Amino acid sequence: MSEAARHYDIAVIGGGLVGAAIAYGLHGRAERIAVLDEGDVAFRASRGNFGLVWVQSKGHGQPAYGVWTFGSAQAWPRLASELRELTGVDVRLQQPGGISVLLSDAEVQSRVAYMRRMLAQPGMPQYEWELLDPAALRALVPGIGPAVVGAIHCRHDGHVNPLKLLRALHTALKLRGAHYLPQHGVTRIVPGAGSFRLETPGGSVTAERIVLASGLGNAELAPMVGLNAPVRPQRGQILVLERMQPFLRYPITTLRQTDEGSVLVADSQEEAGFRDTIGLPVLATLAERAVLTFPALKEARVVRTWAALRVMSKDGFPIYAQSTRHPGAFLATCHSGVTLAAAHAYHLAPAIADGRLPSKVEPFSSRRFDVPAVA
Ligand SMILES: Cc1cc2nc3c(=O)[nH]c(=O)nc-3n(C[C@H](O)[C@H](O)[C@H](O)COP(=O)(O)OP(=O)(O)OC[C@H]3O[C@@H](n4cnc5c(N)ncnc54)[C@H](O)[C@@H]3O)c2cc1C
Repeated sequence: MSEAARHYDIAVIGGGLVGAAIAYGLHGRAERIAVLDEGDVAFRASRGNFGLVWVQSKGHGQPAYGVWTFGSAQAWPRLASELRELTGVDVRLQQPGGISVLLSDAEVQSRVAYMRRMLAQPGMPQYEWELLDPAALRALVPGIGPAVVGAIHCRHDGHVNPLKLLRALHTALKLRGAHYLPQHGVTRIVPGAGSFRLETPGGSVTAERIVLASGLGNAELAPMVGLNAPVRPQRGQILVLERMQPFLRYPITTLRQTDEGSVLVADSQEEAGFRDTIGLPVLATLAERAVLTFPALKEARVVRTWAALRVMSKDGFPIYAQSTRHPGAFLATCHSGVTLAAAHAYHLAPAIADGRLPSKVEPFSSRRFDVPAVA
């Protein structure tokens, strides 16, 4: 490819759910868009996640995160229908409401206190939630076991098929003329006058604006453009049970039935560095909780397991930033890239195209990590 052909208005670094959703939202706002990605062997939360589009529990300690998440969940039907129309891929969005099961009175008390505290914060969206007693829960979700003593139900929660989402976004990018460049893991960013040079094993690419959306890779790339992305891997393991007749309409934080009938069991959060391997003790705990929730699952066969690495910031909230030292360089990272896909496509991407992040994402600036440590 000629040098001119490798020059872009905007280059997004990272082709996971965050980068792909942003690139999708840039359509019509920039002419030449590229997405640079690594090869097949890479850490990709986007291929190993649980697929929840989740509202309840988001925003404790940062109401702006509650607003951002709730807004994204509300924009999700638009994203799903646009992707279906454009690509023919149905990402199987369902937003019937979601449930967190509680297995002891102590869990009930602590969860209810958490929800009340969170929703009492100034600026927090007042979305609906309720505590279900066992009878009300069983009426909603037949088959729940006697060990479950209550549940939080929030009607704004949902789930999606995350692999279909990634495929739909990439198909849309291709159809809309964006260039997807695999084997282009960026090793160095060289800021120049009015543009950036991105060095990769697949050759150099230049772009007037760049978006660092490379998940865990952002930690290394950010300082090259005067930004800071203190993200670390947090491992999550998932158990996949055999396909079953539909029995579970509502996604649960720890368990959901996919559009294809498989049951996914999840929710481990482990500090294991970059080791994305599974471990039997954690899987056994997940299985135990699943059987306590639905005793009938005791008979179900496990067909697959995997582990993947979340992209976790120090405080668990997203990081959206623009470089003051190198204007035109932006950064986006978060640990709920499925839920936030619509916010990234419809709110973050247009702001990046305009060259200025909106005030509603100001609380997510990496400047919040600049507080000097107390001696
Ligand atoms: C077990 C688990 C369960 C989860 N469950 C949910 C859930 O239910 N709901 C939800 O909303 N979120 C969930 N998540 C989080 C969600 O998967 C992530 O937020 C999302 O996938 C992050 O996307 P990303 O694009 O930032 O990162 P990734 O998917 O990690 O993608 C980063 C991409 O950048 C590329 N890259 C890295 N370095 C470079 C470089 N130098 N140059 C070019 N490219 C580079 C990589 O190859 C990769 O393709 C879960 C995550 C895990 C691990």
